Amino acid sequence: MLKFYNTLTRNKQEFTPLNGKIVTMYSCGPTVYNYAHIGNLRTYIFMDLIRRVLKYDGYKIKGVMNITDVGHLMADSDDGEDKMQKASREQQKSPYEIAEFYSNIFFTDLKKLNIGKPEIIAKATDHIQEMIDYVVALLDAGYAYETSDGIYFDIAKFPKYGSLSGKKRDDQVAGARVEVNTEKRNPDDFALWKKADPLHIMQWESPWGMGFPGWHIECSAMSQKYLGKVFDIHSGGVDHIPIHHENEIAQNEALTGAKSVEFWMHGEFMLVDGGKMSKSLGNTYTIAQLEERGYSPIDFRFFCLNAHYRKKLNFTFDGLDAAKVARERLMLALAGHKAGSAKIAQDKLDKYKEDFANAVNDDINVPLALGVLFQAIKEPKSNDIYKLALEFDKVLGLSLDVLPEIKEEPIELPEEIVALVNERAEAKKNRDFAKADAIRAKITELGYTILDTKDGAKVTPNK
Ligand code: AMP
Ligand code: ZN
Repeated sequence: MLKFYNTLTRNKQEFTPLNGKIVTMYSCGPTVYNYAHIGNLRTYIFMDLIRRVLKYDGYKIKGVMNITDVGHLMADSDDGEDKMQKASREQQKSPYEIAEFYSNIFFTDLKKLNIGKPEIIAKATDHIQEMIDYVVALLDAGYAYETSDGIYFDIAKFPKYGSLSGKKRDDQVAGARVEVNTEKRNPDDFALWKKADPLHIMQWESPWGMGFPGWHIECSAMSQKYLGKVFDIHSGGVDHIPIHHENEIAQNEALTGAKSVEFWMHGEFMLVDGGKMSKSLGNTYTIAQLEERGYSPIDFRFFCLNAHYRKKLNFTFDGLDAAKVARERLMLALAGHKAGSAKIAQDKLDKYKEDFANAVNDDINVPLALGVLFQAIKEPKSNDIYKLALEFDKVLGLSLDVLPEIKEEPIELPEEIVALVNERAEAKKNRDFAKADAIRAKITELGYTILDTKDGAKVTPNK
């Protein structure tokens, strides 16, 4: 049974699509004013895992991801300059050039990380009319009001406001910053549309003069256009819970009076060296920067897969090194299996498959699923295990078919020799060199050569 954790109900719930075998899913995409950093990319890997698990279970997906190329201000709560406008000013390029440049790099990054592209990619600037229509409808229904600088959603008209984050309105008002915009009726009222001054580059005609849409209305207008008034899954990073997604719910449900999204799913943040990622600390790495340091993008994907998506993940280069080494071992073992001729019993293979499916169906427990794979590769070298791994790779997306060349056939050692090698390693660890030498002599006597290398002892049979 497939279960996902639903932020809205704070529970793991059985997932069944509203509409038979087609899952409708909306994912908040990037604001394309800069390179995506590894934290952002962790969130897109999480969204990809949702898609892959659904497909593994036989579902088809109608997925929509937005590209925010207007309206996302420096603070999510409608403060500051538009991020696109700021980048445009700083880089002396038009916002459209900025958007195209960073969107292209974003899609290249997704490809490098084996992240599947959603079926529909929707750019905010291609949906201005839909957003204007939505704001008109909210005004007509009495949920919005006009001020001198824009149109705002009146959260007092939507008593459910805050249900996703569990924050009561009173807490929010008490904790709110000093308000700059005195025309707002409540501190948490948010902009649906902003009136633009003549210097603002991106602006469109509207019933309220020239202006540009708010960030939150973008996701409501586009999700409803492509997926309807109610759809299965909405995903995003945890930072979106308290403002962006609360606002989306308010916009969606004000008009319909009913639940708009069945499952809200959120990916936890990535930290760097135990702290927040920030430009000023110089720790917002991009995939290209990891590649420059000699890591493959799949090393990074593998690193992310080792943590559950609802747990914070601390990025360090030591951690990435460990992931790289573990992945190399995995790939080497799989190369051995590909060429292997041992036969694995069907019930054993079925058990691995069952354990794997149970793990991924339990709220995408990929770390546990990886454990199943690592258990399976301990089996005698068998092509059956290689095929099993390829099956698992439909969820993992680790390019397990792109195997390293193995220079020599892996050797199956008799149990007796393996035991002696382990005993000798133990003796060496305890600095009991006399015992270690005695064991070496025994191994030689049994017809094997033992060689100490930096990767441990290597044993080969004497021909
Ligand atoms: P943005 O382009 O700023 O809208 O962010 C794109 C996505 O990355 C959003 O879904 C954010 O929730 C997510 N995100 C931002 N910072 C991090 C982080 N440190 N770790 C994980 N996800 C993040
Ligand atoms: Zn969104």
